[in-house]
Amino acid sequence: MVALRLAAALALLALAGPACAQKPEDTEQAGPIPPVVTPATTPGGPPSDAIVLFGGQDLAEWVSVRDKGPAGWTVEDGALVVKLAAGNIETRRTFGSYQLHLEWRVPAGVAGSGQLRGNSGVFLASIGPGDAGYELQILDPKDNPTYVNGQAASLYKQAPPLVNAGRAPGEWQVYDVVWTAPTFGADGAMKTPARVTAFHNGVLVQNDVALAGPTRFIGKPAYGPAHGRSPIKLQAHAGGGPVSFRNIWVRPLD
Ligand code: MG
Repeated sequence: MVALRLAAALALLALAGPACAQKPEDTEQAGPIPPVVTPATTPGGPPSDAIVLFGGQDLAEWVSVRDKGPAGWTVEDGALVVKLAAGNIETRRTFGSYQLHLEWRVPAGVAGSGQLRGNSGVFLASIGPGDAGYELQILDPKDNPTYVNGQAASLYKQAPPLVNAGRAPGEWQVYDVVWTAPTFGADGAMKTPARVTAFHNGVLVQNDVALAGPTRFIGKPAYGPAHGRSPIKLQAHAGGGPVSFRNIWVRPLD
């Protein structure tokens, strides 16, 4: 019986042989065709499908976190400069997952040390007033010792950068970030964590890091209530400064 079955199987294989031969075309995919994006002509410039959040002119894309009124920071020589008294600012628009490009500068001759030396930050999702959200730290990275999960390019108090690729005060620095927003189940519990990949001046500093929750100044991070699309927030911090920003653009990924 077994021999008969084996013979039948072999006969079938022999018949189907040529038809079963694999061709290169079998594993080619015809579509969907990826959309065309025109890259910038200048390095670091916004590609054609990017939303420019700050292009050097005005704060039209930004509001005050405190009262959702006009963002009170200043624009000087094409740069956006933190104004401490005006507090944090955030985008008018909300985002899910995205690619972000942002350039920042600690002023030459910055005073202070540690966390009080050129402190700002980009909250990859702003989920409430103050510093509520997920902060990618901005701080003077040059000869400025502090706790490693609070230095420049850290995911604040969760992940130190893989390396310190920072430049000196007075020089422009670049963050390129891939933010994967967390998802939440119908019961409100976190289903998939937020993930961050980040480059500092073109050097990989965060490699697909899963966050344990929003970043916190005090206490262990944990996911709280579910949240959806969120603004991107910039921090006004009393720690030295003022930090400047330029060339901020985002490409939504959902
Ligand atoms: Mg900060």
